[in-house]
Amino acid sequence: METTNYYNDDSKLIIPSLFYDSISNMPIERCQVCQKKIIETDAEYMIEKVFRRNPISGKMEVMFEFAICFSCALTFVNSYSAQSKENLQRYFAEHLEGRITHIFQKSITSEIDIYDHLSTCAITGKKVTELEEYQIIGRFRGGFLKLDEPPFLIGANSMDDVADLLSNETIDNMDDFTGKYLTGPPEFRDFFKSPRRRPVLI
Ligand SMILES: [Zn+2]
Repeated sequence: METTNYYNDDSKLIIPSLFYDSISNMPIERCQVCQKKIIETDAEYMIEKVFRRNPISGKMEVMFEFAICFSCALTFVNSYSAQSKENLQRYFAEHLEGRITHIFQKSITSEIDIYDHLSTCAITGKKVTELEEYQIIGRFRGGFLKLDEPPFLIGANSMDDVADLLSNETIDNMDDFTGKYLTGPPEFRDFFKSPRRRPVLI
């Protein structure tokens, strides 16, 4: 008997190594918040990674990365104020429309296409090679990247624009979240100090 696939073949891709755990160089196994095994349980989840250029070597380095399952992300998003939610939805609806069009024009069928797709800021169109800092966000199910909701890259300037849309109440909730779950080594904690970076969960 054939097993049922949840999507068509062209709407998913085996997790590209770009989204791997940068230390183990293997797929991230657990939700950062509830510790659920996301690949084993075929869970829906997001991965967010932030890269920053090392001023000495000139190379991009991973500043932080995490996976969060949909149920934890939903709990988190539900803690946003109504105003913040509305602002975010409007912003992404206005600014990410071009990205959606792009994805239909050029289909992603391999990891190389992912690099191509993530070579410009989804908001400004700026080339990744011109950015000093950016983040990539992808949605996944089990061992696969979802392409029906394609991954995207946003530059640090746009990340700041997004942060400006958030109410103080929402920012407090986010800071509780980052303080609790995104700690790790001291350089990670410094990362969330001024100018602060906050996870993008929409
Ligand atoms: Zn979770």
